[in-house]
Amino acid sequence: MFYNSINNKLDVKKFSDIFFSNIPKNKTLFFPFKILKLKKNQIFSLKNLNYVNFAFKISRLFINNISEENLYNIINKSYFNFNFNLVLNIEKIFNNNFLLNLNNGPTLTFKDIAMIPLGNILNFFSKKINKKFLIFCATSGDTGSSANNSFKNFEKIKLFTFYPFNMISNIQRKQITTLIKNNIKNISILGNFDTSQFLIKKIFENIKNNKKIFLISVNSINWFRIIFQTIYYCYCSLNVYKNNYVNFIIPSGNFGNSLSAFIAKKLGFPIEKIITCTNDNNFLDNFIKNNIIKNYSLKKTISPSIDISIPSNFLRLVNNNNLKNNQMNNINKSFFSDKINNKIIINSIEYFYNKYKKIHDPHTITSLTSLIKNEKKNNIVVSTSYPIKFIFAIKKIIPNLKIKLNIKKLFLLNEKYKIFSQNFNILINFIKKQL
Ligand SMILES: *Cc1c(COP(=O)(O)O)cnc(C)c1O
Repeated sequence: MFYNSINNKLDVKKFSDIFFSNIPKNKTLFFPFKILKLKKNQIFSLKNLNYVNFAFKISRLFINNISEENLYNIINKSYFNFNFNLVLNIEKIFNNNFLLNLNNGPTLTFKDIAMIPLGNILNFFSKKINKKFLIFCATSGDTGSSANNSFKNFEKIKLFTFYPFNMISNIQRKQITTLIKNNIKNISILGNFDTSQFLIKKIFENIKNNKKIFLISVNSINWFRIIFQTIYYCYCSLNVYKNNYVNFIIPSGNFGNSLSAFIAKKLGFPIEKIITCTNDNNFLDNFIKNNIIKNYSLKKTISPSIDISIPSNFLRLVNNNNLKNNQMNNINKSFFSDKINNKIIINSIEYFYNKYKKIHDPHTITSLTSLIKNEKKNNIVVSTSYPIKFIFAIKKIIPNLKIKLNIKKLFLLNEKYKIFSQNFNILINFIKKQL
């Protein structure tokens, strides 16, 4: 498969090129030239595969810089401990609608499903080309814990995880900072998620790849992550499909998860619409509904992982040359959007608790609220995180909530992190000392 730059159609790359160039020069992103649509019988022949074989077949459509055997082994190793009945649990809710619980991986986030194979393939390449990989991760909450878990203990890999000081939940922070490993540095930035992204881009301009080191960013524009997220949309749509195509309702931040669902649709899987849900930070909603691109300042909400002002992966889609002619048409054919403000998110958490005795996390609840509002059928709501991570916020909404905290252990462990201001010199000196 070939890819071209979203800014320059003539800039054509192979998978192996984009696999290693996460923040390319002139800030461009890449998108497949053409996503091959699979035939109906090809798709339905995949239905009885187990998830490892299924993931191998789909990822192989995109990934060709590694042998079949190595790719298979990496996927197999990544998912060895996964109980897919739990990790890809599809729960029927009401009126032929479903909740896809992707939040049962090792760090209780959907991000584990793609991050773990990413860790393993980077470990494979770091040894193969004998370089030290410096991995950078900016997190608005769950990416950090997932990356730390996925990259721990790799000999030739050093991971720097940036999170915004005081802007993620206590439990999310503890998940990140209590995983104390020599190859992981946790960096707490006095700023927001965008500040972390900005600083990481500057680091990439400042430290160059050479014979010994290679810099890689594992944020949600990482194409490998998009591929491994695409796979679960393919798998679930195929398994839920009876007579009607399904819609996915997705709490959306940087738009990686929604873009992945779009690619699954493009591959020909039985997906009708992708409904993105945002909170008070509703850039996506304004664009999808009204085609307005505007720079908004970030608002702090109860759903921090989708507090994002400009979703980079969305730019990947709208600037794509292959879509450009009929851009809005194409987007409207595939996407709907909804925004749920902070107050309604709070009310909804209470509503679902009272009505169904179930606590949902403040991200997933955006999509559930959207579903109830629109009373449609054949929807799959994507559950992206785990309510316990936001228990302190939820307890303010439901004060007498009795919930067993089976993560007490987290509170007994030491935390390790370093706080940095936005002073770039101090930061870069610290990073350079770690090389
Ligand atoms: C990362 C994250 C999102 C947003 O995913 P994107 O791919 O950035 O749109 C939504 N919810 C939770 C809980 C997350 O951690």
